[in-house]
Amino acid sequence: GCGICINKCPFDAIMIIGLPEELDKPIHRYGTNGFALYGLPSVETGRVTGILGPNGIGKSTCVQILSGNMIPNFGGEEGSWDEVLEYYSGTSMYEYFSKVAAGTIKVSQKPQYVDMIPKAFKGKTRELLENTDESGRLDDLVNKLGLSNIMDRNIGDLSGGELQRVAIAACAAKDADFYFFDEISPYLDIYQRIKVSQLIQEISQDKAVLVVEHDLAILDMLSDVVHVAYGMPSGYGVITHPKGVRIAINQYLKGYLPEENVRVRPDSINFEVHPPRAEKEVGTLVEYEGFSKNYDKFSLKAAEGSLRNGEVLGVVGPNGIGKSTFVKVLAGEEEPDEKEMDFDISISYKPQYVVVDHNLPVKYFLRGISSKVDTSYYEAEIAKPLQLERLYDRSLADLSGGELQRVAIAACLTRDADMYILDEPSAHLDVEQRSQATKTIKRFAENNKKTAMVVDHDIYMIDMLSERLIVFEGEPAVYGEAHSPTGMQKGMNKFLSNLDITFRRDEDTSRPRVNKKDSHLDRLQKSKGEYYYYN
Ligand code: ADP
Ligand code: ADP
Ligand code: MG
Repeated sequence: GCGICINKCPFDAIMIIGLPEELDKPIHRYGTNGFALYGLPSVETGRVTGILGPNGIGKSTCVQILSGNMIPNFGGEEGSWDEVLEYYSGTSMYEYFSKVAAGTIKVSQKPQYVDMIPKAFKGKTRELLENTDESGRLDDLVNKLGLSNIMDRNIGDLSGGELQRVAIAACAAKDADFYFFDEISPYLDIYQRIKVSQLIQEISQDKAVLVVEHDLAILDMLSDVVHVAYGMPSGYGVITHPKGVRIAINQYLKGYLPEENVRVRPDSINFEVHPPRAEKEVGTLVEYEGFSKNYDKFSLKAAEGSLRNGEVLGVVGPNGIGKSTFVKVLAGEEEPDEKEMDFDISISYKPQYVVVDHNLPVKYFLRGISSKVDTSYYEAEIAKPLQLERLYDRSLADLSGGELQRVAIAACLTRDADMYILDEPSAHLDVEQRSQATKTIKRFAENNKKTAMVVDHDIYMIDMLSERLIVFEGEPAVYGEAHSPTGMQKGMNKFLSNLDITFRRDEDTSRPRVNKKDSHLDRLQKSKGEYYYYN
């Protein structure tokens, strides 16, 4: 353990641990020694309530209670709504639970795992959506979410990003009092994440909305208040009182909640304002020539570039612009049109979609890549931060999306290579796992003086990891242009100006924050062409 736990920490001290004394009675407990939930998020018409915390901490349990599907038992045998009303009398949640008890609250939910939808629904997008259109807003939603081209496609043929937007439209089209979105960002690029955030804010004008989101830049711009959720996944979960969005995210990053007097992580997550290192300090790993790659309906043009030893390059751009194609060409998985790449370095590559084709136990699989798996260095630098130890005996074929992602990141870093390419490592990871993965990749590159390239849509991950950036522009699914690597300032400027958003750094934690559109700072930065921070 890390020495701060009051309980014995079974999770290698990745999570917290410490239960405030006043939390003696849970809102709900599953069975005698089952998972216990302390506290509930507040839901209020006219605002978006965000929840910030890892998976397995009781978020779905909260929603079961708030939607009236489950009566909380306060740790006892069986609960009743009378008991709930008594418990909440005199609080802001009393009125809400009165309606729940009377059966007059209508809830609309977007499930966390959209991949399940094709199993439950066979038919066309149009049929699915028309069934849910109680509010008459469907046309507007289809338009805003860019779904018109896929209305007549089968649900089973949609990509992850398309399914996600259909699921969001279906949830939003219902006429409910309370809307719950269990993650909005999976499979979506940053353009789409911002669009969805704006849509959810519109809904919240006259409805109550609760959102779970692991992309902190999006949670930050989307929410009006945030509850931090902490505890021991599968053991117990605590939902704090609502906090201001900025404060909640800052406290979470620092790893300490002062009002609760609880440490949720042994160390803080830091954003550094790192000046680019001088070129001669680091040395060049490889130079590559420009190339092009044409598919049937899509063409990619990549400008030449040079990669440096020990640097992490971020790769950013919308979905369908050729990012995966670009890294596949570098990794030697695809040939460019002109000729073979003259690229005599070895590359370890984690693809965007991780496919499992055998059912080895995790540890056996990783050992097969390298014997360094059994060293204490590996344990400290890879296994612990990626929470591999409790997966070691499990079969690859039985892992969930987030578990498989962590193993795939580890496998990529376990191989001996000159360069490491990770395509969307944040996918399926919760907020805590993302920060651990970010740290793992960065330290790996620094300590081993290896070059790494990371494609991702999570701005916090990109900002924390990258020294330089490769920016993609073009028209999704038609053509894409990969620019040469540039410094963060210049690259982010280009990227953000395409998005039409500006960033400032938080004074306290230096994390990036999206400026409110048309705010003083937003207009000032745009007029100066400084989309990425302005000092
Ligand atoms: P989250 O949504 O934050 O991932 P959940 O609310 O789904 O978390 O689950 C929290 C914990 O409660 C999990 O460890 C899960 O095993 C346990 N749990 C969830 N539902 C039940 C149930 N019906 N019976 C017993 N335990 C449950
Ligand atoms: P990104 O990673 O930026 O989302 P991709 O490189 O995966 O983009 O894809 C860019 C475009 O190329 C998409 O329109 C995709 O459908 C198309 N594409 C990708 N791979 C192939 C392939 N093997 N054959 C034909 N088209 C492809
Ligand atoms: Mg891709």
